[in-house]
Amino acid sequence: MLEQDAIATATVHVDKPVAEDVIKPRRITDETLSLQASLHCDWQTATSNTVDDLETLAALLQLDALELRKQVETNEFQLRVPLPFVSRMRKADLRDPLLLQVLPLKLELLDVPGNHHDALDEKTYNVRPGLVHKYKARVLLTAAVSCPVNCRYCFRRHFPYDENRLTPSRWQPALDYIRHDSSIKEVILSGGEPLMLNDRTLTRLLDEIESIEHIKHIRIHSRYPIVVPQRLTPELCKRLIQARCNIALVLHCNHPNEIDKHVKHHLTALVNSRVTLLNQSVLLKGINNDVDTLSTLSESLYDAGVIPYYLHATDPVVGTAHFQVDDALAQDLALELSYRLPGYLVPTLVREVHGKQAKTRLPLAPASD
Ligand code: SF4
Repeated sequence: MLEQDAIATATVHVDKPVAEDVIKPRRITDETLSLQASLHCDWQTATSNTVDDLETLAALLQLDALELRKQVETNEFQLRVPLPFVSRMRKADLRDPLLLQVLPLKLELLDVPGNHHDALDEKTYNVRPGLVHKYKARVLLTAAVSCPVNCRYCFRRHFPYDENRLTPSRWQPALDYIRHDSSIKEVILSGGEPLMLNDRTLTRLLDEIESIEHIKHIRIHSRYPIVVPQRLTPELCKRLIQARCNIALVLHCNHPNEIDKHVKHHLTALVNSRVTLLNQSVLLKGINNDVDTLSTLSESLYDAGVIPYYLHATDPVVGTAHFQVDDALAQDLALELSYRLPGYLVPTLVREVHGKQAKTRLPLAPASD
């Protein structure tokens, strides 16, 4: 079922396989966007051409579909990736760091002690449908419950989105809660993906939040400008720049290959505006757990006008064990980064610890003699 005010994602149109174990090369039909065209169409079209089957992905990336299927086990958190993001993956490379972020590997089925479905204990702080109030002075609003991409390491992959589905008609309890607590200074729009809301609905939501006098800051957590850069429409950028509140747009980018000229181009309207552009990354084994990749990521972000903000230690979430990096290596990497880069390009290494009043900063590893 599609939400009226959010756009939908859909599969790329392909013929269905004849049988599960007989996989033939797919012919992308005429209705389908090419990778190149997906970079220049509008964001709704780019989003609705999301790939959600292995055969199409294999065809687009010149991979052997049978080989791909041997490593993959689909589950309820299905494959979902839009074409502009696929366009930045290397062809014929099963180890591509962007591909590995979206591929539902059999490794997700590993049963690892200590991993939880709700590792961050967000249900405890779910004070109203769609509203999490965990830390002082700030609340998190799940403005939309789906994403244009399913990141395999997502710590919210088991979040009860259905209970937290906020359509405009259901905003009121959350807004009333914020209005009645003047200690709240910041509203964080998260998800899912808040930019799944179209510009009109997002503007209405921003208007509602800005009508609450004690709200000073609005933060938007979004992976959209990375996976579908044209989501930063001129109308959206204008609304953000003209906001009454301070606006921070916190992107989510994990690897330098995610930043290309299209991402940079669409960020241009916000660079040098009063919107603060930050990035948070997740430290992921096999994707970015080496100092060369992390330092190149920081440099690439800075080239695009974005300041690296957080590097998240991986949360112990069921299905993500194969991405987890142990703390000692994470701290070594952070120390090495601090040697290589100016301080403003070194993201703070953090993790969420149950019951703490803020994110916990992991100390840099002590330098060895
Ligand atoms: S975009 Fe963010 S919320 Fe959505 S799947 Fe990826 S990490 Fe999770």
